Amino acid sequence: MKISPEILNLVPYKPGKPISETQREYGLKTVYKLASNENPLGTSPKALEAVRNALDHQNLYPDPSHYELLQTISKLWGFPTQQLAVGNGSDELIDLLTRIFCEPKEGVLTSVAAFNAYEVSAAANRATIRKVPLEPGYRFDMKGIADYFFAHPEQNIRLIFISNPNNPTGTYATKQEVEDFLERVGNRDDVMVVFDEAYNEFVRATDYVSAQNYLGKYKNLIVLRTFSKIYGLAGFRIGAMIAPTEVVEVFNRVRKPFNVNDLAQVAANAALQDKEFIERSQQICWKGLDYFYKKLEELGLPYIPSQGNFVMFDTLRDAAKVNEALLRRGIIMRPILNYGFKTHMRVSVGLDNENEAAMNALADVLKEIPLFEKQ
Ligand SMILES: *Cc1c(COP(=O)(O)O)cnc(C)c1O
Repeated sequence: MKISPEILNLVPYKPGKPISETQREYGLKTVYKLASNENPLGTSPKALEAVRNALDHQNLYPDPSHYELLQTISKLWGFPTQQLAVGNGSDELIDLLTRIFCEPKEGVLTSVAAFNAYEVSAAANRATIRKVPLEPGYRFDMKGIADYFFAHPEQNIRLIFISNPNNPTGTYATKQEVEDFLERVGNRDDVMVVFDEAYNEFVRATDYVSAQNYLGKYKNLIVLRTFSKIYGLAGFRIGAMIAPTEVVEVFNRVRKPFNVNDLAQVAANAALQDKEFIERSQQICWKGLDYFYKKLEELGLPYIPSQGNFVMFDTLRDAAKVNEALLRRGIIMRPILNYGFKTHMRVSVGLDNENEAAMNALADVLKEIPLFEKQ
């Protein structure tokens, strides 16, 4: 069996530990999962009803043109359907964009501690990932990323991924930073710039801007959205892309004809129109974040103010040990050792009682685990 080294070197994705597995392993009844930035309110009731009504025709193939869903997105987001596409989660969009724009050995540029999918997709598509160090405050160094691009023409960088806001740090690039960045790398025909805005709807910072506002100005710009977070459809697997028509056209040639199943299309279509659910999801997120900030301050743990539905904080202890102790208490958070953070954890906002249980367990755990000794 001959397998290419890029594939052999891939490390399987480690998702948040499932609730059922934690219950089994630790002999627990009550387990709260605050590990995967999922919507704690569940799924929009309107989406669920639409899905129920669609159950009886699942003997049929889904609409390969995603017609109705794209009509709805077009109306709500204000872009012609020719500039819109959907995929099997933004995961699929990230993967296919890498396949489309990168020849083997060409470069994909992003930041240190950026969402992990860019690196995995690069490797799986035989491209080379390049990462620019973070700025102080765990922020993307937008100027540094542009500088890197221009300093390394020999790396043939074809794609730049900016997650804004970013996961796991929760940090964001400001309007000014986005504009300065696009002014430098925009409208080039040798590189595509992808803004992954999975947490767009949770942003409270007033100096944030969605890159969708610049799609008319720059022809090498792509914006990604997901239905996994605020819309509560993570299990259905669906993400969206707003892009120049030429990109959408090529994307539609590369994707599988039935990449988004019927129930996902139906659910997304209804969820988009459920304003009440979206607002409730925002409110519970913001309230939960403010609660986490207060508790983390009380516990003396540094945290990074977040524009997502999660917060990354420093346990000041070995995060693997903290994680294990939390699991024993039925709390699943996310250690982020795979991003190179040995003492940090990421916790997603849950329901009030889940947030409280998580912070109480954390307070307990801190007492039993010694402070991390920096080597
Ligand atoms: C959660 C997340 C996504 C969504 O991925 P899906 O495949 O659509 O579920 C995309 N980008 C970032 C940065 C995320 O954190």
